[in-house]
Amino acid sequence: MLCGLLYDGTLAPPRENAAVVLEDGSIVEVRDALPEDLTDERSTVVDHRGATVTPGLIDAHVHTAWGRDEQPGWAWARESEVGRFAWALAAGRAALTAGVTTVRDCGGPGMVTVLAREAIAAGLHPGPRMRVCGPCLTTTAGHGDFIGVTADDAHELRKRVRELTVAGVDHIKVMATGGDMDPHTNRRRPQYDDTELAAVIGDAHRLGLTVVAHCNATTGIRAAVAGGIDTIAHCNWLGEREGTIDYDAQVAQRIVDQGVFVDLNLAATMRPLSEFDGLAEAWSGWEEPPANRWELHREIRAAGGRLLFSSDEFGQDLASFPVLLAEAVRRLGIPVEEAVHRASAVPALALGIGDAVGVVEAGRSADLAIFPGDLRSDPDALGRCAEVWQSGVRVVSDGGVVTS
Ligand SMILES: [Zn+2]
Repeated sequence: MLCGLLYDGTLAPPRENAAVVLEDGSIVEVRDALPEDLTDERSTVVDHRGATVTPGLIDAHVHTAWGRDEQPGWAWARESEVGRFAWALAAGRAALTAGVTTVRDCGGPGMVTVLAREAIAAGLHPGPRMRVCGPCLTTTAGHGDFIGVTADDAHELRKRVRELTVAGVDHIKVMATGGDMDPHTNRRRPQYDDTELAAVIGDAHRLGLTVVAHCNATTGIRAAVAGGIDTIAHCNWLGEREGTIDYDAQVAQRIVDQGVFVDLNLAATMRPLSEFDGLAEAWSGWEEPPANRWELHREIRAAGGRLLFSSDEFGQDLASFPVLLAEAVRRLGIPVEEAVHRASAVPALALGIGDAVGVVEAGRSADLAIFPGDLRSDPDALGRCAEVWQSGVRVVSDGGVVTS
């Protein structure tokens, strides 16, 4: 494949006029020009010299089986299992068409997402590679109980982890703190104490599963880090008092030291803190207080922490992920290679598939996304995916799924 511009998923600047050699579903070589020995009739040359190539994007926080409407969740809660399954498949198709070749589902009711993962993996429906948690774990009257199963103490949490393991999930999602959009919740307080959270994480790790903790409140972040969490979703550092942020630099340092992934859903990350989260009263040692969650994580970024970008979108809105990445380039002032890196190589590691996907290099699966033109001068082209390759097969062309 000839690439006008190639972002390989690392933080390296893009390469011009590179050639990516594919064979049997894998990348076998990345070089500066088309190899002469491949210009014979046994090989096919795919010419994307007028386009930009990136790794297939990885959205590590989505809700495929959950539709968005005026009151998220509640109309959905009346949908049938079959309807939810169809919704998940449609979401997968929308994501794939936008250039997303892998997603991590972070919560849907019942085992609908497990079924969707299997249907896509079996080739019955076009869609991204899926990693799923089934329903999330939450308390009675807890955040996201309409997409979760309830567990109110350490014993119940361990039992749910074991049940979900048998049901075939890939990871565990626990609502460590409250959230928004529920009638019964408090996003500034933890839902589980330190012992309970450590019980979930410990038992999941024993069974070979990673754990994603939804954390708005700092008390929840602190407990999750102490318990050995793998990914912290949102990581808002909310103080208990309304309108305050309680950033803890020591816990932030532990996040870096322990290699914890921080999952920043982009729409909320770019929003001013003053609109929803509040402002800190004191920022000792900081030149100026952070304006948004991106700036709130400046110390973790500077220390090389593993921040990843996600959409946290529902249903067919999964297709907006590359659009959000383009917005991040413009609004956060980051280079395209960083936006791509945090949406490919970093989430691949978080999902435990860092050896297989996420970077365009020899030995990895040939998952590629192609965007028109030059992303350096036109980052918004991320929102106009032209072609997608999955395991060396062209699955999306001219913006639509290829039917065989
Ligand atoms: Zn979510």
